[in-house]
Amino acid sequence: MAISVTDQKTEYVVMGGTFDPVHNGHIHAANALAKAMDYSCIHMMPCGDAYHKQGSSSAQHRLAMLNLALQGEARLQSDPTETKRAGATYTVETLRQLRQELGPDAHICWLLGTDAAKGLSHWKDWQQVFELANIIVVNRGNEVLPEETSESWPARRVIDKEHFKQQASGCFMQLALEPVVVSSTQIRQALHKQETVGHHVPQPVMNYIELHGLYEGKN
Ligand code: ATP
Ligand code: MG
Repeated sequence: MAISVTDQKTEYVVMGGTFDPVHNGHIHAANALAKAMDYSCIHMMPCGDAYHKQGSSSAQHRLAMLNLALQGEARLQSDPTETKRAGATYTVETLRQLRQELGPDAHICWLLGTDAAKGLSHWKDWQQVFELANIIVVNRGNEVLPEETSESWPARRVIDKEHFKQQASGCFMQLALEPVVVSSTQIRQALHKQETVGHHVPQPVMNYIELHGLYEGKN
């Protein structure tokens, strides 16, 4: 695995997702996060068996599209950690694995859009996520995370980025990024209706979708 070390502190920043398919909203958010936080690498990690989204494309297709989308993206790297595991993949298990590999002091950070952050309390062993990692919430479109959501988290809110980057786990930050309003669902639906989606999806990904006939018969 590629590990970044900044000021002697190991850091590992993950944007997890289904990426079915990856789109410019993902890429923009990850790049904007890297810039705002001075992170040298964002690991974009597709989930393995997408148990919560029946009928998803295979992990192999989703990872292949991500690899194509990230060519030339200096700070973004695809991360196959979850696609290598058999069966359902849970974030908490991935974080246990990362913590085991990186040691107790590493700054581990998991990125969530506001929509994903609102659902965090339904994840497996969700409170343990904060024992293992920090969370950064970025806005999805113009959506803001409701105060009551983060109030229920067993985590400390941090404003200062340098302070945040010194934390191994247990903290969260909110970042307001320039919104890019697009979702994979919209893209799948548009393709199903044979509408064009070119401006939302990198061209090599679009070529891959066409080559493999993805999303033709489903939404
Ligand atoms: P779907 O419609 O299939 O759920 P999606 O567009 O939400 O797809 P995911 O793979 O579910 O994409 O999202 C992965 C992560 O990226 C989540 O944390 C999500 O909130 C975030 N994300 C997705 N799209 C954007 C966007 N346009 N701006 C900011 N964050 C985004
Ligand atoms: Mg989603």
